[in-house]
Amino acid sequence: MDEPRRVLIVEDSLTQAVRLQAVLESLGFRVYHAENGRKALEMLDQAFTPLVITDWVMPEMDGITFCQRIRSRSYPGYVYVILLTARDALDDIVAGLEAGADDYLVKPVHPAELAARLKTAERILGLEAVLKKRTEEVERLSVTDPLTQLYNRRYFNEQLPKLLHARQRSGRPLSLIMTDIDHFKKINDTYGHQTGDRVLEAFAAQIQESLRAGLDWAARFGGEEFVVVLPETEVDKAGLVAERLRLLVAHMSVDSPKGPVRMTASFGVAGIPEGVDQSLSMEVLVAAADAALYQAKQNGRNRTEICMDQAAHQEPEAAMI
Ligand code: GH3
Ligand code: MG
Ligand code: MG
Ligand code: MG
Repeated sequence: MDEPRRVLIVEDSLTQAVRLQAVLESLGFRVYHAENGRKALEMLDQAFTPLVITDWVMPEMDGITFCQRIRSRSYPGYVYVILLTARDALDDIVAGLEAGADDYLVKPVHPAELAARLKTAERILGLEAVLKKRTEEVERLSVTDPLTQLYNRRYFNEQLPKLLHARQRSGRPLSLIMTDIDHFKKINDTYGHQTGDRVLEAFAAQIQESLRAGLDWAARFGGEEFVVVLPETEVDKAGLVAERLRLLVAHMSVDSPKGPVRMTASFGVAGIPEGVDQSLSMEVLVAAADAALYQAKQNGRNRTEICMDQAAHQEPEAAMI
């Protein structure tokens, strides 16, 4: 069932509020009532209502100030405001619209006209909802790798510096796992590029499944290389996570027209221990995890290496010029 359409009436005259409420309910709205602008602002904060019909003259906060306040605040969505007032001078209408009202109606209003104006309001709010949904989808896509649905490199580059900044202030640990599928080129060559893509998807899904939801997250770093960010995690714990993942991957198999495809991956782990309050750049941490991954490849692949070298975490001295 659809959500009931909600409207907030802001009106100090109870008689008028009751009459308006009856009309709105007959149009299918769920009606809320506030007796002045200040109370209405409180109600909008507690339960957002996108559609507001407000009187002008009210004690404590009038409709004009109320409109201005709404426009100066930020809400989860657009607030469509209809001023409904006995004031019908041209100057008043202009002042009302300038204060931020979307529409202006003079009392007494015929229910048919009110219904028509509300239709306009709902059309605008409907457009806004569509736009908001599309914007959210575009934002999601802009940080998502289309093949694996993990975060992409752009998201990683944006988020890791923020986490490093927060970590520096809190002194909490943070670790990074870099992983790269072993001999992936051979998988492509043997089974074809499409199967290679299925392998990448399955590998990414395995990573995603094994993470602590809401805390750890993974991104596709490039081709068949992925990175896992583990906030609040010491490097030895991250090493265990990598080992668990390595074993899971080594036991996976992906169906293909040429039969099941097996794979292994190598893992490099680096981290910043608890209590380190120096600022560390993303580049230094990534380089440390990358060096450990390189070691894992050198040492025979299908293994995890941990960068224990504190020096590797230090910012290099500024180059002499
Ligand atoms: P190593 O064990 O040293 O990592 O060897 P490797 O073969 O995995 O590494 P290499 O860097 O030589 O090859 C990676 C291959 O991954 C080459 C590239 O064509 C392939 N690749 C990169 N992105 C994609 C993709 O999106 N889909 C598919 N199917 N293959 C990809
Ligand atoms: Mg009044
Ligand atoms: Mg590889
Ligand atoms: Mg690679």
